[in-house]
Amino acid sequence: MGNVYDMIVIGGGPGGYTSALYGARAGLRVLVLERLAVGGQMALTPLIENYPGFPEGVDGYTLGEQMRQSAEQFGAETRLAEVTGLELRDELKMVDTGEDRFYGRTVVIATGAGPRMLGLDREEELTGNGVSYCAHCDGMFYRGKTVMVVGGGNSAVADALILSRIAEKVILVHRRDTLRATKVYHQSLMEAKNVQILWNSAVVELLGEGRLTGAVVEDLVSKERTQVDLDGAFVSIGRKPASELVAGVLPLDEGGYVIADGSTKTQIPGVYAVGDVRTTHLRQIVTAVADGAVAAEMAGQYLAEK
Ligand code: NAP
Repeated sequence: MGNVYDMIVIGGGPGGYTSALYGARAGLRVLVLERLAVGGQMALTPLIENYPGFPEGVDGYTLGEQMRQSAEQFGAETRLAEVTGLELRDELKMVDTGEDRFYGRTVVIATGAGPRMLGLDREEELTGNGVSYCAHCDGMFYRGKTVMVVGGGNSAVADALILSRIAEKVILVHRRDTLRATKVYHQSLMEAKNVQILWNSAVVELLGEGRLTGAVVEDLVSKERTQVDLDGAFVSIGRKPASELVAGVLPLDEGGYVIADGSTKTQIPGVYAVGDVRTTHLRQIVTAVADGAVAAEMAGQYLAEK
């Protein structure tokens, strides 16, 4: 059957395409289903310096494209389609994209993770219109402007520092009185003259019609609320796994990550979880890539035993 594959990979980031490369190179018929564009989160990263083999660094979009080409030269196929439903328990697993149904003897979940949102009323409407989750991607639009960064972890502080070199003023809003970010960042942050820190504070409202113009910030100790005029707000409060598709089907940990150890095996035989969506100690391109290779090996063994 044309729509039956040995391995269906859901997600075209580094983990997904490495599974596809190893699977296809081992002779499996492999399909990668990707919702938007290949590369996953790394496609939004202009310069990657911690993926070995690129002494000058590499832009994430190019690396993603090259990973796709590597897999496709061994016969893996890519379809740009969003998976809307899954039936994983049967021996031949069904993957539904709304338009088509594909069947896989094995399935690799490589859906990655995305930014955590504040959960405020206007947040979705203002995303891309003043609200951003990526200072690397959108920072340059705020030259000479006033921006806010929300969060107190490494990402928030790194974003505040990037933006301090572009924007006129950066307001860092953190809900506690100490940063979670590692000490190495503290000194640089304190030295940045144009960064103001609002401690024990939370953004309670985003303002603006069609475009962000400001925010209401609450002092969590005094409960006093202040309106702040802004050109941009960068939400940097961590990431959340894209595991909605398998919630209720595969066990997830308290953070929503698919529970799987270094073997990438999930609770369902023939179903593997790789990269940022899996419970793991480190979420990087190299770890996703390693997971992808392991999953393909496990899938090969599973199919051989059938
Ligand atoms: P993180 O370390 O989990 O920090 C998230 C921050 O957002 C915390 O300060 C947290 O506050 C705050 N927060 C969470 N939910 C919030 C909410 N609803 N409203 C307001 N604030 C909220 O996430 P991350 O900074 O994205 O980093 C993720 C991982 O990547 C970490 O392991 C980090 O070390 C790593 N990383 C490393 C580097 C580096 O340069 N080495 C750079 C970036 C990221 P609390 O502190 O109160 O919990």
